Amino acid sequence: MQPKQQQSRKIFGDLRLLSSMGRVRESILVILLLFPLLLHQSLSQVFEASKSTRFVEEEVRGNAPEIHCSRHRSRAAWQIIQDYLTPFVEREGYQISKNCRLHPDNDLYRDQELHKIHVDIFEWKCGYCKKSFTEEKFLDQHFVTRHYDLLNTTGTKCLADLCGALHCDFVLSSKKPKSKCNPAAIAKNRHLCESVANSCFPVSQGPSASRLHEHFLRQFCDAHTCTGRNKPFPRGGKKKSGVFYLAISILTLMLLPLFYLLVFLHQREKRSGTQELRRIKKAGKKTKPS
Ligand SMILES: [Zn+2]
Repeated sequence: MQPKQQQSRKIFGDLRLLSSMGRVRESILVILLLFPLLLHQSLSQVFEASKSTRFVEEEVRGNAPEIHCSRHRSRAAWQIIQDYLTPFVEREGYQISKNCRLHPDNDLYRDQELHKIHVDIFEWKCGYCKKSFTEEKFLDQHFVTRHYDLLNTTGTKCLADLCGALHCDFVLSSKKPKSKCNPAAIAKNRHLCESVANSCFPVSQGPSASRLHEHFLRQFCDAHTCTGRNKPFPRGGKKKSGVFYLAISILTLMLLPLFYLLVFLHQREKRSGTQELRRIKKAGKKTKPS
């Protein structure tokens, strides 16, 4: 009679332990499933709210003259210079002359680009007239229609013309170009690249200019071959600390409490599990002698 009682008590105890473990596991699963959903919902709400409160786009097109210089590619070239050349030029304390095509004065769009105010993710402001836009492309369009008179189009000041030498396509296109290598085009880009190196960093101007000349050839010109062995910008550049890192840090901050909650639940589960086992063992010992 007694062994039977003891056995049934043990079974009940085990069942209770199992059900409490199951509950904890269930709640962890629910939290894990709900978290991305809640995150997505709250983020999209924030985005929608900011979208609806901002101006949308410039509707009127003025009589803007046609300019044969890509703003988009000029911006890419400028960014490449900023990322892969400027840090080295600053380290050398070198002053680029106005004869050099990389000088800021030789970028047609520099002044307009400097008059862009990025207030937040969905607000771009015109620095000339303070008008707001939801996207950068609308502000670009506004510059074209409203402030074209500020562009000094006399002379050749298009930074995008250096794109061949500076590998803009390498940066702009995420996919690798599969087209066959064109030796004539490669030779043209290499020639342009070397002429920029010569005019911007004349070796005769001292050790700093010589080092930068060498750096420019390695960083930009060596990759102009059909072998594909040399990649552009082998010496790296400025560390990218943009939206990606911000998103990662926000996500980490949000996941940290969840991690601690899981650790806490796991500890509690373990503690209650050992308590149950101790109780079962005690009960078993008490009944054994008889
Ligand atoms: Zn404006």
